[in-house]
Amino acid sequence: MELLITGATILTCDPSEPDAFAGDLRVVDGRIAEIVARGDGTGDDPVRSDAGDRLGSPAATVIDGTGCIVLPGLIDAHQHMWEAFAPIMHPDTGMGPYFAEWIPKHAPAVTPDSLFETTSGALRRAIASGTTLTFDWCHATNTLQHAEAALAAAADSGSRYIFGYGPPVALGYYGSDRPHPAELEVFAARFDGRQGSRIRGAAALRGPDLSPPGVWRDDIERARAAGLPMSMHVSTRRNGPGSITALHEAGLLGPDMQFVHATDASDTELRLAAQADARFVVPAIAELITGAGDPPLRRMAAQGIPYALGVDTALASPPDMFSQMRAAALLVREAPWVDGAPPPGSAYRRILAAATLDAARAAWIDDVTGSLASGKSADLVVLRPLSAPTTVEEAYAQVVWSGDAARIESVLIEGREMLPNARR
Ligand SMILES: [Zn+2]
Repeated sequence: MELLITGATILTCDPSEPDAFAGDLRVVDGRIAEIVARGDGTGDDPVRSDAGDRLGSPAATVIDGTGCIVLPGLIDAHQHMWEAFAPIMHPDTGMGPYFAEWIPKHAPAVTPDSLFETTSGALRRAIASGTTLTFDWCHATNTLQHAEAALAAAADSGSRYIFGYGPPVALGYYGSDRPHPAELEVFAARFDGRQGSRIRGAAALRGPDLSPPGVWRDDIERARAAGLPMSMHVSTRRNGPGSITALHEAGLLGPDMQFVHATDASDTELRLAAQADARFVVPAIAELITGAGDPPLRRMAAQGIPYALGVDTALASPPDMFSQMRAAALLVREAPWVDGAPPPGSAYRRILAAATLDAARAAWIDDVTGSLASGKSADLVVLRPLSAPTTVEEAYAQVVWSGDAARIESVLIEGREMLPNARR
């Protein structure tokens, strides 16, 4: 199977593969085979018409990318997808009412069937807005069948997917001294040796913010023994700083850890985690809307610490990554400009990296996806911006500021067209 995208501005988001102001991208058997630049980025190199002859066989599917931007598929590194049945239905209330009222009302009512429907619908909407991978931090794991239902939904949707096996919040696990459910090991066994596939597993743990010390230590050791990387919420305004310090003092920090929020973590804690090669996800819109704290994006950018972006919850955040990038761009750009130069980390290519390669790294899958380079999976978006870009740098900014589901011409996952009925 061969597919060719011609004449597009190609933003590779990959340090080893140069961007192409005008270029062609060839996909063979689901992987990127070749990216060929046709211009030097100045915009005055004429687009040649023989690309199909040079690059593709006559049988190849050809997408005319003229006037379009090709970018890696976007990655939502943190969302509780089971909550997506109620988009923006929790306005003007914060985390207190969410835990005290919304969760007790809705979490026990989730069934495997309803979880399948919600997850399937949310993943399809995510794909339509350019998101090719979602890390689903699922705390609606009321039974093992719930987890199976979410995995079935992911398989059905065609999305790339990481299922974070969380503690069932409906059963009172948050803040309790019960160990993480034993189904974690059953779940992990399903993925034994299959972490290279489109659907992967992780442990979604309570960590020091939401469980007592003996419990979080055991949970972490169990996840490691089961061969699962792990994600945990740390240091929101509700809990304050200290979790990363506690993990550091326990000698447990490591590259298999992903920290979500860290809004109230100190600069020292951010550095400690980064030095241990732990990963960060900052779902900035949800943090601001629910009062979880100030997104630590400026502090991370100032220290050169990479981060991923995420939706967190459709209850309090638009479920597309273009919105998340716009919020991040504004937050980072709020830092002082020095000598007329924009603040550290505010270049639009850095913002797009937070939803592509850095997000793939935060989900331990950057060897497979997150950038456009030879050999990587053909997970990508073809976007038609408001006007054709005149430079590569302009194209990065256009992705952030004019990116929208309505402007997407094509989404590929493993080289497969996910929106066959999109306008073209
Ligand atoms: Zn969350």
